[in-house]
Amino acid sequence: MAATKTEELQLDDFIKDEEDLEHLLCVLAGSDPENCSYSLGYAKRQAVFACNTCTPDASQPAGVCLACANKCHDGHDLFELYTKRNFRCDCGNGKFGDFQCTLIPTKDEENTKNLYNHNFFGRYCSCDRPYPDQDDKVDDEMIQCVICEDWFHSKHLACQVADVDDMVCEDCMNKAPFLWTYAAHLSAEIKEAEDVEVEENADILESSEGPSTIPEQEGAPTGSSQLKRSHGDMTDRPGETETAACKLQYFQALNVTRPRTGAVFWLSEWRARLCTCTSCKRAYVVAQVHFLMDPSDSIQAYERRGLNEPFGKHPLMMLTGSMDRVQQLEVIYGCKELVNAIAALFHKCATDKKVVTVEAVHELFEELQAKKRRRTNMDDQ
Ligand SMILES: [Zn+2]
Ligand SMILES: [Zn+2]
Ligand SMILES: [Zn+2]
Ligand SMILES: [Zn+2]
Ligand SMILES: [Zn+2]
Ligand SMILES: [Zn+2]
Repeated sequence: MAATKTEELQLDDFIKDEEDLEHLLCVLAGSDPENCSYSLGYAKRQAVFACNTCTPDASQPAGVCLACANKCHDGHDLFELYTKRNFRCDCGNGKFGDFQCTLIPTKDEENTKNLYNHNFFGRYCSCDRPYPDQDDKVDDEMIQCVICEDWFHSKHLACQVADVDDMVCEDCMNKAPFLWTYAAHLSAEIKEAEDVEVEENADILESSEGPSTIPEQEGAPTGSSQLKRSHGDMTDRPGETETAACKLQYFQALNVTRPRTGAVFWLSEWRARLCTCTSCKRAYVVAQVHFLMDPSDSIQAYERRGLNEPFGKHPLMMLTGSMDRVQQLEVIYGCKELVNAIAALFHKCATDKKVVTVEAVHELFEELQAKKRRRTNMDDQ
């Protein structure tokens, strides 16, 4: 059998980034590659890109939608911001000077409700570093906070990293301090502690039993008003029905403590278990985390939408369904061989009368990513 390009790609060295790639496919799947999303207003969630060529000035951060990244900023120095919630495409607006959007040229000067964190000028984490970081050769995993949507080095989260989807950084925990109460019951470490017993989590378990290691449960220096209120709720013993109606008060009454430091990794259904009583909902609005109540806000829901809608079911569908998908990936990967490699894979499967498997595509992407890394490393010297 003739050795095709695809076979070579698959046989070359192999890296384990399947999840990243799957996520990447899903990120793109949920956004429209053809139409600027501006007309949707502040989209619930979409893939967002920043353009270093058009808006290099950190004091004027801007983000563009997937379609604009493809069609208006082709060949520019784009970087991916993964997905952002409640964002409206800035392409060609007041921040872009003379540059015109080719899809929707007429836009408001500014999208006043867009939030721009330091990701928009290429900085990430509490350490405010670029990614990849030339000064730090240790390849650390980056994890996104579900609330502020910033990305964090796992080593800067000040907690044990769990293999779950939802993480809330320490800053956001303190901005919505009632989450600490839930964290004592719904965080991934609780599950792990139950599953594994002892081990590294022993100290966490101990701290919920023995008073010696409980740091600053009540009267902690941060968010003290919230803490005082919680304390009051607990000791004033509100009416039985009210206690039963408010899940927060229920958890508070259990009086399980947990150190109020570090990021928190959550059990998968944690958002559904947050209280929805009127007073709690008000607190979510005040803390600007009301989107936690919206099941369609989560990245997982976005990815499901992407896979079910318009391209249907499967990461593969979007590759076969439209060459624009390939071009999107090309933008992200910045590698021209992608089109050829995918075409070769499909051609090979067609001639072998074989179905293209998800595994085959993942392998292909892993290979391409590895190639890109090697190339980037070579560029660095
Ligand atoms: Zn756009
Ligand atoms: Zn641009
Ligand atoms: Zn545009
Ligand atoms: Zn960091
Ligand atoms: Zn955060
Ligand atoms: Zn409540």
